[in-house]
Amino acid sequence: MSDILAHNLTMQFDQFTAVGDVSFTVAQGEFVTLLGPSGCGKTTLLKMISGFLHPTAGRIHIGGVDVTRTPPEHRDTALCFQSYALFPHMTVRGNLEFGLRQKRVAGRDRVARVAQIAQQLSLEPQLDKLPNALSGGQQQRVALGRALSMQPSVILFDEPLSNLDAKLRDQVRLEIKRIQQDNDLTAVYVTHDQSEALALSDRVIVMRDGRIEQIATPENLYHAPATSFVADFIGNANVMPAEVIGEADGGGWLLDSRMGRLVSRDVNDPQAKHINIAWRPERAHVSPEGSLTGTVVSRAFQGHFTDLHVATGGQTYRLQVAASDAIVGGDITFALDPGDVLMLEPLR
Ligand code: ATP
Repeated sequence: MSDILAHNLTMQFDQFTAVGDVSFTVAQGEFVTLLGPSGCGKTTLLKMISGFLHPTAGRIHIGGVDVTRTPPEHRDTALCFQSYALFPHMTVRGNLEFGLRQKRVAGRDRVARVAQIAQQLSLEPQLDKLPNALSGGQQQRVALGRALSMQPSVILFDEPLSNLDAKLRDQVRLEIKRIQQDNDLTAVYVTHDQSEALALSDRVIVMRDGRIEQIATPENLYHAPATSFVADFIGNANVMPAEVIGEADGGGWLLDSRMGRLVSRDVNDPQAKHINIAWRPERAHVSPEGSLTGTVVSRAFQGHFTDLHVATGGQTYRLQVAASDAIVGGDITFALDPGDVLMLEPLR
């Protein structure tokens, strides 16, 4: 078994807390992503799991064993970086073999393992080339192959796709997922890219300022964000203040917002009279009977939808509508289904 348990992990650099009292688990064979803006502590957390940083406080268990003080080379983990960190003077074969030589794996086993990885990652034609003769995607695959050659049971990724262009990113992303599943690896993946996190993960840990904001499946993060931060970060929800007026006829809660009156059928009760609410840009229905209004400040045709920016009370919100004859400078009226209005934390 190679499940991971992080228990009250804290990492302090002098007076600065990069990671503060963070706890989570990753099950054997699970793919978990650490997602959050730059500087929120993702890499620091990954380095503690890999052993390159020792936590100021807290414990890490891998496969039920306390590895908090175990050096990286004695953990059953492999790390795959954004900068491929390949040895430029060694061929692809040399790079794939490097860790195996260090571990004194016998020649015949080494050859067999490199052959298997080269086949799994379609690298056979590249084995005798130097890294600078490879494309970015191929270099990333060699870096992945090098990590896999050690047959780890936990694989850790730090933004492995950020140097690739959009098309290659999609392709290598699929490969990472396939290899993780085929080898039943426990994976922790760091990214600040929400679409990458949603596409790859069994569960996502959203981080902010060194702390965990929410841990959930991609679907739950999207449909039931716990906070305004998560609602905004995942899927760019519109977040706005609202006042809870009371219970609505037919169920749910009646709310007053700066755009007008609306109803929420959020399953949770409101936590206070003044709260933040959130709704997705694509859930707005433009309709003259709608109860919400604002002034269109910009429109951008995007092909299968049109992006509108609508302002009211000095704030701008985004609507994504199928087709629109809205004109910039004019008012627009729209509605939200009660099921699409989420009630979040109290206003401070
Ligand atoms: P990015 O997406 O930009 O890589 P991140 O979420 O991975 O960001 P970390 O690299 O974990 O963030 O850094 C978290 C915070 O800790 C940052 O404010 C960073 O400046 C700080 N930090 C990281 N390493 C050190 C260090 N060795 N000494 C001092 N501060 C550090």
